[in-house]
Amino acid sequence: MNLSAHADAEAVTSAKESPPSSIVIIGNPNTGKTSLFNALTGETARVGNYPGITVERRVGTLNIGDAGQKRLTVDVIDLPGAYSLSARSPEEKIAFDALLGLGGEAVPRLAIVVLDAGQLSRNLYLAIQLLELDVPVVIVLNMIDEVADNPPNPKRLAEALGVPCVATSARTGLGLSELKHVIADALVKPPRYRPRIDYCPALLADAQELSKSLPEQWQTGVAPRSSLALWALTSIEDDELCDIPNALREHCNRIRRDQREAGRDIDLEIIAPRYAFIDSLIPHVVTGHVHLPKRKTSERIDRVMLHPVAGFLIFVSVMLLLFQALFSWSEPLISLVEHGVGALQTIVKTHLSAGLLRDLLSDGVIGGVGNVLVFLPQIMLLFAFIGLMEDSGYMSRVAFLIDRVMRSLGLHGRAFVPMLSGFACAVPAILATRTLERKRDRLLTMLVVPLTTCSARLPVYTLIISALFPAQLLFGVIPIQGALMVGMYALAMVLTLVAALVLGRTVVRGRQVPLVLELPPYRVPSLLTTAKMVRERSWDFLREAGTVILFCTIGLWALLTFPQKDATSVAPTSGPNVATLTSTVAHSGAIPPPMEHSPIEHSYGAKIGRALEPVIEPLGFDWRIGIGLIGAFAAREVFVSTMALVYGIGDHDESAVAPLRERMRRERGPNGERRYSPLVGASLLTFFAIACQCSSTLAVVRRETRSYRWPLFLFGYTFVLAWFVSFLVYQGGRLLGLG
Ligand code: GDP
Ligand code: MG
Repeated sequence: MNLSAHADAEAVTSAKESPPSSIVIIGNPNTGKTSLFNALTGETARVGNYPGITVERRVGTLNIGDAGQKRLTVDVIDLPGAYSLSARSPEEKIAFDALLGLGGEAVPRLAIVVLDAGQLSRNLYLAIQLLELDVPVVIVLNMIDEVADNPPNPKRLAEALGVPCVATSARTGLGLSELKHVIADALVKPPRYRPRIDYCPALLADAQELSKSLPEQWQTGVAPRSSLALWALTSIEDDELCDIPNALREHCNRIRRDQREAGRDIDLEIIAPRYAFIDSLIPHVVTGHVHLPKRKTSERIDRVMLHPVAGFLIFVSVMLLLFQALFSWSEPLISLVEHGVGALQTIVKTHLSAGLLRDLLSDGVIGGVGNVLVFLPQIMLLFAFIGLMEDSGYMSRVAFLIDRVMRSLGLHGRAFVPMLSGFACAVPAILATRTLERKRDRLLTMLVVPLTTCSARLPVYTLIISALFPAQLLFGVIPIQGALMVGMYALAMVLTLVAALVLGRTVVRGRQVPLVLELPPYRVPSLLTTAKMVRERSWDFLREAGTVILFCTIGLWALLTFPQKDATSVAPTSGPNVATLTSTVAHSGAIPPPMEHSPIEHSYGAKIGRALEPVIEPLGFDWRIGIGLIGAFAAREVFVSTMALVYGIGDHDESAVAPLRERMRRERGPNGERRYSPLVGASLLTFFAIACQCSSTLAVVRRETRSYRWPLFLFGYTFVLAWFVSFLVYQGGRLLGLG
């Protein structure tokens, strides 16, 4: 493509110039915006088949131009899905701000409106709104592959709307190169068109009146004042949308009140003429029948999937399959990584001479980080599963099914989507609460989401369960360890729902609103997309292991190593030290050495842990667990590293490095009894299930609520609750003679 031929080429900003011009991608949820964004920019944003995946805008760069010619580089922004610009949810407000350059953003040079070619009339509504606001627009008819037998005609649509229109399939790549050409041209000469829509004169007069109250900073020169005023009339209501100037809000309320008194329906007056306009367009663009076979198939499947009984059974089976995959299928992979870590430690121990460096490497770095890496297979499986559920469209059905249960507990049905993401991580889940329209629903969901079993808890649970509970069958049929793991997930669900029930009636009260959830058609999930997501998430996990966890592990290693006892009598670089010798001698017996003889007993870490003991002893925890709990604040997985350190440093057995699980199981107290009984395990599991010991979660809650009050409340209530429930579990168990 030869761009230098355009006289106006400098209007397009190249990568080096500033400020760079940008393109926004906008459209209804599930139209393939993120897929298109990925295809254009080569990024790997998450795609999904339910509303609310893209919760914050993402930015990538698009390069246009063939080799040897002047290359164009523009920022591309993937906006969250919006049905209209009438901002009722924060996502829609994000879209609006980005388009008009509000909130300190540069006005984008072009908006690419992505429409689902199979749902033209509803999707066109947003496009019409953009045209009315005088935004330069390129229209994309995506998913053209799904309507192959009766495709809408892009040329006719382009003629009718006066802006370019391209048919694409983000899935197959069809039309993408044409789209790039069209974008390049549109950047040079922004396509604009004002659709003629027949609003009634009374409405136009109101808009004229209201436009006097529009704030100065909205006059960016893009949008005509009358269109902005219409937007304000449909969007501004009491108590929602925070950054609206008071004068405008009051003026809006006044006009709406007058209209109501005159018996007029404002929404109807604005929306109906727009749809009338769209209806007059459609016959020119689509010729055949409009109902699509693909959607019919989806409806047929949904008759089973959404059936109150069959649907629920299917859901339960899917969940069981997930747990089976997580806890049985991943086992061989886990042992593989475990042995790899052990082998590495043995290599370091045999090849380096004894000393601090060797200990740091083998116990601190390899032991600490390696024992967290052990859980990579589980994390990958979990995300593959979630990815497939999202991409196929099944996740929306789950939200639909569960809605009734949720509502009886005071939660909004859509809150289930963030709650399901909570099984991966609370941070994106809290961001996903933005798909909820009302503040009250968002807040309630944020306060309970941290109780769901996030993937960072998985390593901790797996360690505790496999180390402290017997791998036997209960009543000869139920595997105890597997059942416990399922139990932990079930406990989390019950806790979440009960917390919602209680908090929704006390701390965050409010009216219930119905679920309006669109069910996207089923699609064969794209394996490539899922694989990309798994890769991205695994990479996140690895990066965290390589930074936060590594950092904490080294810090904890230092805490647990210093001060060294008998430092004078130990020559760190010459042969095994005293502690090592004693421990090796003691270890020649069958019972491993009690840790009281190990140097770790005198470390700073032990002192800190001991200081905690008065608080945590009633829960059955000793100082080692105490310091693990402190470490878990940075990331829950650090608990595992801490245990690995405690055993790595404490046990100086040179010959073989047993897996961490093995060592915790063997651990004996001063009198030869098991140090960590299953009852301690149960208490610890309970504590981890409830306490919100995750600084990132608290940080996003702070950001999303713009206050310190709610994160503090979240922290406070989960800790108090965790302590009491663990207390009940441990002391109750002892009364029953269990531990
Ligand atoms: P967004 O919500 O608009 O960002 O949509 P996504 O990019 O997340 O895509 C939603 C779903 O549609 C995913 O399952 C995609 O794999 C699928 N999808 C996206 N583009 C196409 C397309 O052109 N054809 C088909 N058949 N599926 C698509
Ligand atoms: Mg998206």
